[in-house]
Amino acid sequence: MATTAIYPGTFDPITLGHADIVSRAAPLFDRLIVAVAGSTSKKTVFSADERVALAAEILAEYDNVSVKRFDGLMVDFARQEQAKVVLRGLRAVTDFEYEFQLAGMNRKLMPECDTVFLPTSEKYTYISSSLVREIATLGGDISDFVHPRIKQVLDERLVRAKK
Ligand code: ADP
Repeated sequence: MATTAIYPGTFDPITLGHADIVSRAAPLFDRLIVAVAGSTSKKTVFSADERVALAAEILAEYDNVSVKRFDGLMVDFARQEQAKVVLRGLRAVTDFEYEFQLAGMNRKLMPECDTVFLPTSEKYTYISSSLVREIATLGGDISDFVHPRIKQVLDERLVRAKK
């Protein structure tokens, strides 16, 4: 049976760290769905539909990768997609405690689905969407952290926000 994995997150915006996880996970599964959280307690710069569109644009080269929005519980979305795997990226030990707790909670809610962690590639360990947003807001250069298209739209968005 084909194995579907979902890679859930906020992706506000998608970074080179996220894209690296996708490029390494895509060959491991038959189908990989990047699941963009629509309902999140985080205040986002981009709307859910914008985050989906941007991730889809950046990840268009992968035939078995799709990007979808989900609202509500991730486990409900995973069930709907018949996913067997929840994929998460791990940067540093600081990610571990939260990710471990989340994996335990998801296993309780959905025993048929397991979490797989991929360690980030060394050169992306320090990249997070929140730092990228902060640096861009303060006028810094984010071109080493995101795809040029993301840099363009984020810069545009922040300029507009300042006006
Ligand atoms: P969330 O709000 O769920 O943490 P994020 O968009 O911040 O959503 O992250 C989604 C997933 O991608 C998480 O598993 C996170 O650990 C992982 N991730 C984020 N940045 C990187 C990176 N630079 N390298 C590898 N994984 C990352």
